[in-house]
Amino acid sequence: MIKSLDYVSSIKPYVPGKPISELERELGITGSIKLASNENPLGPSPKAAKAIKNFLKNASEIGRYPDGGGHYLRSALAEKLSSKKVSVAIDNIILGNGSNELLDIAVRTFIGPGDEAVMAAPSFVVYSMAVRSVGGVAIEVPLIEYRHDLLKMAEAVSSKTKIVFIANPNNPTGTMNSKDEFKKFMKLIPDGVLVVLDEAYYEYVCDKDYPDTLKYFAEGRDVLILRTFSKIYGLAGLRIGYGITAKEIAAEMNKLREPFNTNTIAQIAALNALVDKKHVKNSVEANEEGKAYLYRELESMGLKYVPTETNFIYMPLNIDSAKVSDALLKKGVIIRPVGPKEIRVTIGLPEENRRFIEAFKTVLTSF
Ligand SMILES: *Cc1c(COP(=O)(O)O)cnc(C)c1O
Repeated sequence: MIKSLDYVSSIKPYVPGKPISELERELGITGSIKLASNENPLGPSPKAAKAIKNFLKNASEIGRYPDGGGHYLRSALAEKLSSKKVSVAIDNIILGNGSNELLDIAVRTFIGPGDEAVMAAPSFVVYSMAVRSVGGVAIEVPLIEYRHDLLKMAEAVSSKTKIVFIANPNNPTGTMNSKDEFKKFMKLIPDGVLVVLDEAYYEYVCDKDYPDTLKYFAEGRDVLILRTFSKIYGLAGLRIGYGITAKEIAAEMNKLREPFNTNTIAQIAALNALVDKKHVKNSVEANEEGKAYLYRELESMGLKYVPTETNFIYMPLNIDSAKVSDALLKKGVIIRPVGPKEIRVTIGLPEENRRFIEAFKTVLTSF
């Protein structure tokens, strides 16, 4: 049989969080909960949901190709992101079928065989997969106390480095790097190296020390800021995200973007979700409450967790995480093992958080 390229066959496949329907089919159970993929437990913005329903009243429009340029959504984003200090134009915005697709396009635009990309480990696994898929080399710099070691990452930049990936906050640890740390890092990064700032959890961050990365965009630095409608906006199933970058960088990436990469319904939903400030506010508040509850319970159980700026919590356990995850699955609770002894749990609705804690307590007694 035909063999894939060596650098493709060496990639380990991405393992997504198990969908609820699949778990229930396998175990013959019902009423399971999924706290594995950092989705918004409140679901989509009601404004977005209503817009989708309205659109579908005349589903015949689905027979047309989407607006490949995503004009209305890009205009709305440019307007929303612009301020007295920063002017964002429509040509500074690129839409992706999830921000994941934009990571991939950035890699295909700037990395060739043998080129390097620097990233943290553990961080979002898609970075290394994307880099290796084009024959690039992923240079992984270990986290320091669960956070990006930005100075070491800057030191890892060589003449072959084309991209540095920073997830801020980081997935799976939920941690953040500060304004000051980021400023020092940017001083060390030469022109011609693209800093990809993955801000998938941007709207959840409450820490005042969170870097305002649009500032570096405004200064004309080589940055690509990625945000998504999958997390707080609750549109993960529609696949839509966006990048903010220099016009020249967007233009090059657009050459490799599929002409109709974001679909009509996703664009409509995103446009409506974007103006639903109430849904974002409610989601942050619900998340902060869930976080406080889980912190309290985990502390009372004597368990270690890493304080989070996101809608998930990373826990270094001293037992096999796959076994813990399997035992929880049997109780209808889907979480994510993210290392040999580490798990990641999405903050859910109050009753989901209670279910998780109850199941976790029972499961831990058997270890
Ligand atoms: C969820 C996530 C994404 C991307 O999600 P999309 O659904 O593709 O927009 C990107 N980066 C990180 C760190 C994430 O956790």
